[in-house]
Amino acid sequence: MEGQLVRLSVSDIGGIALKSFCSRCFWLKKKTKNQLPYRVPPPGIFANIESYMKKIVVNRVKNHTVGDLIKELENTEKLVNSDNKIYEKFFPELNCYIFGMPDSIFSNIDNSFSIAEFKAARFTSAQMDMINQYELQLQAYAMLVRDYQIKPISKLLLVYFEPHISDSDIDVRSQEGDTISLDFSPFVHSVKQNDFEVYSLLKTAVSIIQSDEPPQPSISCRDCNSLNNIIKNF
Ligand code: SF4
Repeated sequence: MEGQLVRLSVSDIGGIALKSFCSRCFWLKKKTKNQLPYRVPPPGIFANIESYMKKIVVNRVKNHTVGDLIKELENTEKLVNSDNKIYEKFFPELNCYIFGMPDSIFSNIDNSFSIAEFKAARFTSAQMDMINQYELQLQAYAMLVRDYQIKPISKLLLVYFEPHISDSDIDVRSQEGDTISLDFSPFVHSVKQNDFEVYSLLKTAVSIIQSDEPPQPSISCRDCNSLNNIIKNF
């Protein structure tokens, strides 16, 4: 299927940076338009929390108080992307579009721009594999939005909102009230732009999708072999 038009989301490209990436799974997902059985949808609560955090950050930018919360955003002026705005870029030599929707793009007082993604999670070693994916996504967004005259980009930021859970908080909040609140504080991970890395993973993705045959199963996953064993028993 060499030469067929390919459309890839920014999260497709980010997924290739995961250690657990399996080219066979990627090929199958693209061939079935993401309709594989036995999918476990991600819990919606995190998306709600991240959207809530984003709204607060955007309001803090409007109120010129964001620097007290996130120092790296202290020189921002305003949000420049609207919700649900999809950015895309065509790579004619690969016959491939990539598209994506960044959480937030801010203009800065020095006429540059910052792109920030918000995550409700702790920045821990357990998150490291996911961080590779998120870094790639931010780098891909930077490539996309430059075609919309959103440039130069001075900062790519992964903003982790980490929950505070302490015994004293539990004691205080166990006393009264009809709601339970949990404080979050930001931890910022800055990411460098890297068009070369994005482009190289994009080429990998296109070559997997354009293959006529499914790639070999990942050696770290036994599910394909288990499925073959089930099928043999019918
Ligand atoms: S080896 Fe595992 S990850 Fe790869 S296609 Fe099979 S089930 Fe999916």
